[in-house]
Amino acid sequence: MQSTNKIKRNKKAKARAGQKVTINAVPQNKAVRRLVIPRPDVLHTYLEYGQINQYLEYIVHRYSNFVKLYTLGITHEKREVRAVEINWMNPNNTELPITMRMQAAKQSELQKLSGVKGPSVLMGEKNRNVIFIEAGTHAREWITVSTSLNCIYQLTERYTRNIEMLRNLRFIIVPLVNPDGYEYSRTKNRNWRKNRRPNKASKIVGTDCNRNYDIFWECGPTRTNRNTYKGERPFSEPETRAMRTILDSLAPNLLFFLSLHSYGQSIMYPWGYSRESPYYWRELHTLATAGRTAIKTYNGREYRTGSISGLTKRTIAGSVVDYVYGVLKTPMALVMELPSRELGFQPPVEMISQIGHESWFGIREMCKNAFDLRQIIRRDEEPNAPKPPSHKELGAGDNQSDVLPTNANEDKKKSPIRKKLKKRAKRTLLTQHADILELQKRHMQNALMPRRAMTAPLAGTRSGRGDV
Ligand SMILES: [Zn+2]
Repeated sequence: MQSTNKIKRNKKAKARAGQKVTINAVPQNKAVRRLVIPRPDVLHTYLEYGQINQYLEYIVHRYSNFVKLYTLGITHEKREVRAVEINWMNPNNTELPITMRMQAAKQSELQKLSGVKGPSVLMGEKNRNVIFIEAGTHAREWITVSTSLNCIYQLTERYTRNIEMLRNLRFIIVPLVNPDGYEYSRTKNRNWRKNRRPNKASKIVGTDCNRNYDIFWECGPTRTNRNTYKGERPFSEPETRAMRTILDSLAPNLLFFLSLHSYGQSIMYPWGYSRESPYYWRELHTLATAGRTAIKTYNGREYRTGSISGLTKRTIAGSVVDYVYGVLKTPMALVMELPSRELGFQPPVEMISQIGHESWFGIREMCKNAFDLRQIIRRDEEPNAPKPPSHKELGAGDNQSDVLPTNANEDKKKSPIRKKLKKRAKRTLLTQHADILELQKRHMQNALMPRRAMTAPLAGTRSGRGDV
């Protein structure tokens, strides 16, 4: 009896320790569950936290040959931060020919960080092929969560369409970095942005996870009542610690990191903390432009491209994309701000599938380009990164689209010319939305027509349709 208690105590102690540093693989060998996990409608609804987990579990059981699920950490309200690994070229994939399986098995693993049971870290430059996509850092940006789930859908349920890319690249997707904030936004306050851990110094709840990374963190906003509060110290938040664990350990294999936000309709590259451009800004610009062009070809929506500080006209410290690019020296890192001001943080459900699919076209194109660009970029040979601006300017702001709704006083300060320009830009975007909705309607009509009656694809769109 004594020994049983001891074992139990040991297990509990290990579990406590595990919450801090380990990534636990979710058990996957329950074949019976494959039959009973229903598939939530991931493409047409905003899923709640439980449904997102259900979808991930459905995927991992349905495609266990090449999909794995990891728990990266536990939040303040005891929710899990989870990552999906989609790795076609793995030795256990029974759909691969035997020669390819042997090839995949040959790749030896790097010495893992003690206790980390995350995705494999593999030796050699040719294994620098991981695409890392994260979403849902900001609670109210629901559409980013849906779009990242769409990426998972495309790479698993529609994997045959993407098989060439899957042979070259390994994907890690964290669809919901901040589940506590997301649930709070869904049920209590749709405009909530931060996480839900109370601050010790004040009664105000929440830290902006995208100001909490250790890259010039000290320059970020210090007032707890700010929507962009940087936190008590770098990585003070369970969500950012969860991300650090996987990002730091996978750093040797990371090729392209993509952070999804809304709403700015822009694809942006570092730096956020400095107005200077990174040494390889041309390559980053090429990558962003590839995404922009693919989306424009798909349905005419026009994204803007540029650096974070350039497009948002302010500098921000402690963001994940600067951390990955500046500290981990990942060859390529971008922020993609999904559409758009008129649709808000939570576009109507009719738009979820549309935005998900158009974004996927852009993301897929960027992934292919990242693979091509990998030979050119040598981060270890570049000059030192710039210093942040010395005055208070840094950290004062936020991504343009992420700021709190502008108040009336701020509007009054704006010049008439600026107001006019803003109005014109808004009108252009509204026209774009109308065009896209019209295209979508025509797509739907086409889909309902008998196959023989279908003519050439609509101008400016792809023939391959979305979510069936
Ligand atoms: Zn955001």
